[in-house]
Amino acid sequence: ANERESMYLVSEFAQKHFSEMLWNSELGKAIGLSYFKERGFTDEIIKKFGLGYCLDQWDGFTMAALDKGYQLKYLEKTGLTIVKQDANNPNNPKKFDRFKARVMFPIHSMSGRVLGFGGRILKNDKKAAKYLNSPESDIYHKSKVLYGIYYAKQAIAKEDNCYLVEGYTDVIQFYQRGIENVVASSGTALTPEQIRLINRLTKNITVLFDGDAAGLRASLRGIDLILEQGMNVKVCSFPEGEDPDSYAKKHAFEEVKTYLEENSKDFIQFKANLLAKEAANDPIKRAETVRDIVNSIAKVPDAIKKEIYIQECAQIMNVSEGVLFTTLAQISKKER
Ligand code: ATP
Ligand code: MN
Ligand code: MN
Ligand code: MN
Repeated sequence: ANERESMYLVSEFAQKHFSEMLWNSELGKAIGLSYFKERGFTDEIIKKFGLGYCLDQWDGFTMAALDKGYQLKYLEKTGLTIVKQDANNPNNPKKFDRFKARVMFPIHSMSGRVLGFGGRILKNDKKAAKYLNSPESDIYHKSKVLYGIYYAKQAIAKEDNCYLVEGYTDVIQFYQRGIENVVASSGTALTPEQIRLINRLTKNITVLFDGDAAGLRASLRGIDLILEQGMNVKVCSFPEGEDPDSYAKKHAFEEVKTYLEENSKDFIQFKANLLAKEAANDPIKRAETVRDIVNSIAKVPDAIKKEIYIQECAQIMNVSEGVLFTTLAQISKKER
């Protein structure tokens, strides 16, 4: 009767099945478990996050699920099984495990239900996508979930801060190091719904960027959405070639904490500095960057904070406060 409930149940079965394969099958142990161990994950953390392995078979998981009485309909709806009609055999369509030969990261809701999965290929050389995710479904809306939120929620409230990272492994490695207030957007652009999940727990977000500069400029836009919700945003980037996972793997808890404390910068100040450096002495570029930074400041709902930001940015960008206030007024007028 309840379709979504049936989808939850088959997802929960899948999570248990993939864990079972990881811990108890010969190939799962040799391939999946040793992969996670190489990444520095302990048995305890692998169990806590419910990690798993989908065997390198066309339909091993699907057959196990059907065997247990789960219906093909829900395997297909959750995307766990890909169903292809077979012209020669219309009553028996072909079935394929979506996550064949991948290590599995279950994605949980705020209350701990399994909504979907991310699956990683083991070798970086293949043409296939490094990560494959569950498709959108009635239970999995990728714009509304944050990876790790179920495990992080208490620590986010307690620390009154949330670290936002890019990937699954960043969350797990941080958590294992003792930094539990961490969630990931999992490669998608940040959405207002995702920010609202955090906003219920704290008003403070620190966005951690991979040290590959690739997404930095694009991410700056997404951060305006956090300001719009009246939250305080800091940003912190990692050394060239490092991400939170690789950094935390190499450094002790205290070192990671110190790195975060020393390198987290207020977002508006960070952006103003970045833009000022880029525009240098080009007057046209400088005019554009002034408008860009004022655009971000305009998103801040609090009038006092707005004024403080204007004062700071005037100094950083070497323009008068007056011109910034005028620009702010123009932008606010346009948006009304
Ligand atoms: P790893 O350390 O396992 O190589 P990562 O988490 O550092 O992975 P990034 O390349 O930094 O990977 O990407 C960040 C996140 O973006 C990933 O965790 C994943 O959620 C998502 N992602 C990366 N590549 C893909 C892809 N090809 N398809 C879909 N999502 C992806
Ligand atoms: Mn990255
Ligand atoms: Mn990364
Ligand atoms: Mn990584």
